[in-house]
Amino acid sequence: MPKFAAGVVKFQQEVFPDNAELFEKLAQGQSPEALFITCSDSRIETGMLTQSQPGDLFIVRNAGNIVPPHTLETGGTTAAIEFACTALNVPHIVICGHTQCGAMHGAMHLEGLGALPHVRNWLSYARAAVEITNELGKDLDERARGLMLLEQNVILQLTHLKTHPAVAVRLARGDLRLHGWVYDIADGEVNAWDEARNRFEPVSQRYAAEVAKHLALHTHT
Ligand code: ZN
Repeated sequence: MPKFAAGVVKFQQEVFPDNAELFEKLAQGQSPEALFITCSDSRIETGMLTQSQPGDLFIVRNAGNIVPPHTLETGGTTAAIEFACTALNVPHIVICGHTQCGAMHGAMHLEGLGALPHVRNWLSYARAAVEITNELGKDLDERARGLMLLEQNVILQLTHLKTHPAVAVRLARGDLRLHGWVYDIADGEVNAWDEARNRFEPVSQRYAAEVAKHLALHTHT
């Protein structure tokens, strides 16, 4: 039996009965706090990273945490965004990139993707981020340039997100907040985009007031 199938049996025998109340509640419906858009990379575990439970995050994953700009063509990412914003009314959308991202490495070197035509086309949605990085990062070493690309890609995909009518109308109404993050696989750091200051800073600083409020609530309950 593959490890993941054995895992299901363990889940059914141990985890599910231990969380019966939660699963009973989840069977009534969902009301997630955020649409969480991240990379398909196997090293990202959204529940572990955000310490969230089933029902908390509506998740879209694809190579490179990409959001194609809105067009008249239907796609899985577009449909999920529309559903999350219009039907579920999520109050937050997070786009979360990550270090050591193979997709972003590929976006930087599209010429090496001849055997992967769909990957190559898909990653072209990050082209503006690649070109900005080539321009602004031309004097940086490869590591710093790689990090700049991850950040620029998150910013670019946030821009694409705003072209989706379902997002635009929520932003106009003022009841949707967008977040751009980069998760560092090696050290667990998560840096969040601060548009007003034009920089990324650790989540603990970026959300200092909210984090303090949440942790205080948690200790009181
Ligand atoms: Zn990735």
